[in-house]
Amino acid sequence: MRGSCHCGKVRIEVPRAPESVTSCNCSVCRRTGALWAYYRPDEVRIEPEQGETDRYIWGDCCLALHHCRTCGCITHWENLMPDGDRMGVHMRLFDGFELEAAEIRMVDGASF
Ligand SMILES: [Zn+2]
Repeated sequence: MRGSCHCGKVRIEVPRAPESVTSCNCSVCRRTGALWAYYRPDEVRIEPEQGETDRYIWGDCCLALHHCRTCGCITHWENLMPDGDRMGVHMRLFDGFELEAAEIRMVDGASF
């Protein structure tokens, strides 16, 4: 499946549609409205790999939230932990993904 930010400068390819997406209520996710699917970083292709996104890192610095430099869309998050084996991809960027048909899991990230 392929998705992109609004202006198209950042393109993301994932190997399969997720069975569910995650809506998290932590301080940053509830502001962005992102719906996340999780993959191993080696399963996800992001084009270009660098240069078109800016990173936002906060708090305890275990995640970096990426957004397009041009149109501002949140695209994915990157795990900054050395042993981190998953990343999050924002599924609202995927035109072919039927969000209405997916299970939405509510995660209480605000309580962590
Ligand atoms: Zn863009």
